[in-house]
Amino acid sequence: MGFAENCLFCKIAAGQLPSKMLYQDQDIVAFADIHPQAQQHVLIIPRRHIPSMADLTMEDGPLLAHIFVTAQKIAQDLHIDQTGYRMVTNAGLHSGQAVFHLHFHLLGGEQLGPFGRTGG
Ligand code: AMP
Ligand code: ZN
Repeated sequence: MGFAENCLFCKIAAGQLPSKMLYQDQDIVAFADIHPQAQQHVLIIPRRHIPSMADLTMEDGPLLAHIFVTAQKIAQDLHIDQTGYRMVTNAGLHSGQAVFHLHFHLLGGEQLGPFGRTGG
């Protein structure tokens, strides 16, 4: 079922590594980021091992809708839906992607900074 043996997030999704799980169903899992970059920082991932958004196809449309609609629900649960939030996904070297299992960062709970290039 698309499990990658050496993948951290496959293991978290399978419950083989601990996490602070916020939501799970048959297809997706959401858990707290271990190094939060905002007051609220949640990672939402498909259970299926997809390395990054660079590997998505049109057939993944329903999966992506599922992830985004679940993000709305998580934002409501965390009471950040009224104050606003951001969804971000990194792909490849320049983005700084560190874990090569597709994940969406849901960030909020405080005013977020601008994004783009790092200083200098
Ligand atoms: P990225 O740079 O987009 O690949 O993001 C990877 C994210 O995974 C970072 O924000 C890390 O803090 C987070 N992370 C790494 N290991 C874990 C873990 N065991 N549990 C929760 N989050 C993690
Ligand atoms: Zn994986």
